[in-house]
Amino acid sequence: MSRYSLRYHTPTMPEQPPNLLPIPEDWSRALAIAAHPDDLEYGAASAIARWTSQGKDVSYVMVTRGEAGIDSMHPDETGRLRVQEEINSARVVGVDSVEFLDHPDGIIEYGLPLRRDLARVIRKVKPDVLVTINHELTFGSGRLNMADHRAVGLAILDAARDADNRWIFPELLDEGHEPWHGVKTVYIAAPPNITHYVDVTEFIDKGVDSLKEHRVYIDNLSQSFDPEDFLTWGAAAIGERAGCDYAVGFGVMEV
Ligand SMILES: [Zn+2]
Repeated sequence: MSRYSLRYHTPTMPEQPPNLLPIPEDWSRALAIAAHPDDLEYGAASAIARWTSQGKDVSYVMVTRGEAGIDSMHPDETGRLRVQEEINSARVVGVDSVEFLDHPDGIIEYGLPLRRDLARVIRKVKPDVLVTINHELTFGSGRLNMADHRAVGLAILDAARDADNRWIFPELLDEGHEPWHGVKTVYIAAPPNITHYVDVTEFIDKGVDSLKEHRVYIDNLSQSFDPEDFLTWGAAAIGERAGCDYAVGFGVMEV
């Protein structure tokens, strides 16, 4: 629901954003999954920098290589380039493991093959929490969220449960991947309704550096884009609600 319609339907209620809660950090291993190289770098990476600085183990999985992301470049070349940019960007925030599942960029299908691939990687990595980005229809502003983000986000939530059940995708047992019962929550960056925050005041610079690693991709965007302006503006707005200088907003889904 947009702010306009909220006011329209409840005209006597003052607009009061709910208090944000600090996201739980009583875990040791996270698996961050996104559709494309660069998805995690529009905010989540600053929080990931904080977590790796605490000694937590974070690894990345990209569902595609982002090969359809640059209009003027052939997908084969773009894919190779963006894989390297994502690996570089992960390293900036203390993440050494980046896996690519090679689903086709732009036309990812929600379905059993994607759920199986995600369940497999969850069973391999054995995380306590999953981290991803918004998969709702919009970002809360009326701006349409991409089809790939919607498909991947929903599949991640389902795969967290698939990974837990030995009778779903029994072929994974044949591959040696026993069920993993450890994922209890999924942290979703930039959902329409933010409920939790991570204080990234000391880590926003790492987040900016991480996004800047997508150099060729950013240089080829149709509009000029400044990673520092974008990230600090967004993190300052969430920080104001959270009571710190810079914060990243999340939703938390129990699975
Ligand atoms: Zn994306």
